[in-house]
Amino acid sequence: MAGGDALSCFACGEQNSADSRYCKHCGRALVVERNHPSVTQDPRNRLMLTLVIVLLLACVLFGLFGLITSKVFGPSRSRPELPAALVITNVS
Ligand SMILES: [Zn+2]
Repeated sequence: MAGGDALSCFACGEQNSADSRYCKHCGRALVVERNHPSVTQDPRNRLMLTLVIVLLLACVLFGLFGLITSKVFGPSRSRPELPAALVITNVS
């Protein structure tokens, strides 16, 4: 009869009584953590993760867009970093 309801710790293998919630040896939780969803299973954290990814993608896309437009339209437009005198001599 003895030992049938004993819980063995999955972390250290120590035998604990069935009504104990934490391992007496290492302190890990013995119950299956169904009520404690991980970070990826929490919808709010998933929303935050999605927002961060979208913001990063937007930054990358805007950076690429600025780079492409500056390369494509840069030479044909008047560049603001040039001195005004140089721009005027180019135009006239
Ligand atoms: Zn343990």
